[in-house]
Amino acid sequence: MHPVEQNLEAVRASIRAAAVRAGRDPATVRLVAVSKTHPAEFVRIASDAGQPAFGESRAQEALEKIPLLPSGIEWHFIGHLQTNKIRRLLPHFALFHSVDSADLARQIDRIAGECGLHPRVLLEVNVSGENTKFGFGPEEIRAALPALLVLPHLRVAGLMTMAPYSEDPESARPVFAALRNLRDEMEQHAGSPLPELSMGMSGDYATAVAEGATIVRVGSAIFGERPGAPVEG
Ligand SMILES: *Cc1c(COP(=O)(O)O)cnc(C)c1O
Repeated sequence: MHPVEQNLEAVRASIRAAAVRAGRDPATVRLVAVSKTHPAEFVRIASDAGQPAFGESRAQEALEKIPLLPSGIEWHFIGHLQTNKIRRLLPHFALFHSVDSADLARQIDRIAGECGLHPRVLLEVNVSGENTKFGFGPEEIRAALPALLVLPHLRVAGLMTMAPYSEDPESARPVFAALRNLRDEMEQHAGSPLPELSMGMSGDYATAVAEGATIVRVGSAIFGERPGAPVEG
């Protein structure tokens, strides 16, 4: 068995276990396998092993990789989205995880309208207030959400966050709990369902599942360490 298959099985098993421990139905947690920096061949191996959804965070890399792979793969864009890439990315992605400003949301809506598309998106929240990260602040999103929910072409499906990097998965728990609470509050307030919570990566996905994640984004635990350089963007 290829290591990617083995890792995938292990990650799936520990997602299931975390869900069961939390009293959740494991079927309510989706795994997005983050394939950024890894070759199309690894995606194919995981796809052949039954993994349906993959995440990419760099536009250029994604646009090169996607045509090499079966058309049935479900692609998720998880990186910071540059305005000049929206038009080319829109047709390929089932979900955009990281809409990090009201301005970006409006741009996507406008371009989607021109293309006749209705992209599903998540709003990225910078819960921890780390100023190096992209995303809405909690106050900012409370103020911005009502206007974003009525954009005609955008379908806002929920929230996404990244916890600050730490060796200790428990340190992410308050961040994940805060995102879930914010989602619950905004659902009430806006009267509109926000079912998806995209949170948890290789180091902390079990904690995220315990705190209500509906999507976890796991890269290195499946595909191995990424070669060199920055991992985001
Ligand atoms: C790279 C990346 C991940 C996956 O990170 P791992 O630690 O390798 O699991 C998840 N989410 C986002 C937004 C990323 O950029």
